Amino acid sequence: MKIARYRHQGQIFFGILEGDDLYAPYGTLWEPLSRGRFAARLDEVELLAPFIPGKIVCVGRNYREHAAELGNEVPAEPLLFLKPPSSVIGPNDAIHYPPVTSNLHFEGELALVIGRQARRVRPDEALDHVFGYTCANDVTARDLQKKDGQWTRAKGCDTFCPLGPYLVTDLDPTRLQIETRLNGELRQQSTTDLLIFNLPTLLSYITQVITLEPGDLVLTGTPAGVGPMHVGDSVEVTVEGIGTLRNTVVRGE
Ligand code: MG
Repeated sequence: MKIARYRHQGQIFFGILEGDDLYAPYGTLWEPLSRGRFAARLDEVELLAPFIPGKIVCVGRNYREHAAELGNEVPAEPLLFLKPPSSVIGPNDAIHYPPVTSNLHFEGELALVIGRQARRVRPDEALDHVFGYTCANDVTARDLQKKDGQWTRAKGCDTFCPLGPYLVTDLDPTRLQIETRLNGELRQQSTTDLLIFNLPTLLSYITQVITLEPGDLVLTGTPAGVGPMHVGDSVEVTVEGIGTLRNTVVRGE
């Protein structure tokens, strides 16, 4: 099931997308939903971030070739950091290039959304706590990441967490194609089976120390091929079975 959040005639709705048609859902997130009446056609609405996450827990250096391209060792354990919910934007929203950086990078990633509270879960039960999946762009000020040592500014600026276009349930995350394009040119291409720490391992590791609640988000890491974006660029993150998250870069104030 593909779930969209959208603005239509001045109001915000959740909808279930089938083909190009949106239907009102029966039920509420984060329970299983069923399809209600026809609500709108996709081309009549403005898509928003598919939900507003609570915590955003991210994993760094989780593809071998990406760790190598930035001259980093493969971590012995998952490398965790947080992005603030205030960094979230939706499909087609603008990424603001802030004046504090001169090296803004894209990082296309698969993101998972928690549906059921997860505390100290075992890997073999971890995916039972997932509601669904979406595409994310872990926008990063690479110069600040190096300069600051810790990553709050580098990863946490406003607009640094584009999400969408949809939240997709009943997706097998073990081997999904992931691609990032800059101005239409393919820059990142990998599959999620190449993650150093797979999703069950990540969820088990994270929940040893952080209880994850319904609506919390986990960004699983970016493959090789990261690179700079400039004002005016268009960036697209595509994950197989989910769709394409497209954003443009504008000059931030
Ligand atoms: Mg990342």
